[in-house]
Amino acid sequence: MLIILLSATVLAWDYNQKGADWEGQCVNGTFQSPINIGLADAETIKNGSEKHIQLNFTLFTQETKGYWTNTTYKIEGQFANMTASRPSDQWYQSSSVLQLHFHSPSENHLDGTEYDLEVHIVMNDPTNRFTYIVYAVFFKQSEVNNSFISDCIEAEDKNVNFTLANLINDPLVDDFYAFIGSLTTPPCSENVLWLVDGEVRNVTQTQVEFFSKKWANSTEFAGGNGNDRQIQFNNYRQIIHYDDYASVLGFTVTAFIALMF
Ligand SMILES: [Zn+2]
Repeated sequence: MLIILLSATVLAWDYNQKGADWEGQCVNGTFQSPINIGLADAETIKNGSEKHIQLNFTLFTQETKGYWTNTTYKIEGQFANMTASRPSDQWYQSSSVLQLHFHSPSENHLDGTEYDLEVHIVMNDPTNRFTYIVYAVFFKQSEVNNSFISDCIEAEDKNVNFTLANLINDPLVDDFYAFIGSLTTPPCSENVLWLVDGEVRNVTQTQVEFFSKKWANSTEFAGGNGNDRQIQFNNYRQIIHYDDYASVLGFTVTAFIALMF
């Protein structure tokens, strides 16, 4: 009986106040997530610099099904292995996908913009340097259907052969933001490495509604306003934008445009 009561206490959180009423590290932490990724605050490291880091994904197809928890839509499986590498000093980080889940609207903001949907691909760290590694991608409502989101919706309560191939079209990702943060849900554990893709994907209104209809008008989701935790203080944390444009290319393009006019 005691165990049941304790479990109920631990699990008793919702989005009614967007996380403002959560406890423990959610209140006491110093590098919490989500944050606004302010471009003016980010240090840019261009492709070609010896400090540039590249992400490399190896995808796997796994039989799995998507399901709703009390707070999100989740799909579990080892859908990819990822390495982050910087050849200049042999810095290397490997990880494996554990699960992915969604937030609508987005939790992180990019230069003040809140997007319609954000997927969190949660990965482990075999070296235990980080609590978790989260690769995040934003989706913006448009007229264009998103094949990856279709795959996720197709998997609802039904066994399918699932893959990230329609999300990670190119196994090399070299335009992303990196910073240290936390889980965005209780217990809000810190020392999570966030890797946020710089390329915002398209999604249709109907696809966004697959998620948002679950919490429409629900007080547990702030009156239907979503499963996004409120933005947390940056506290002067380091944000690095690993940019896919090489500096020399950027100069060439600028010079070329100048010549055209
Ligand atoms: Zn999340």
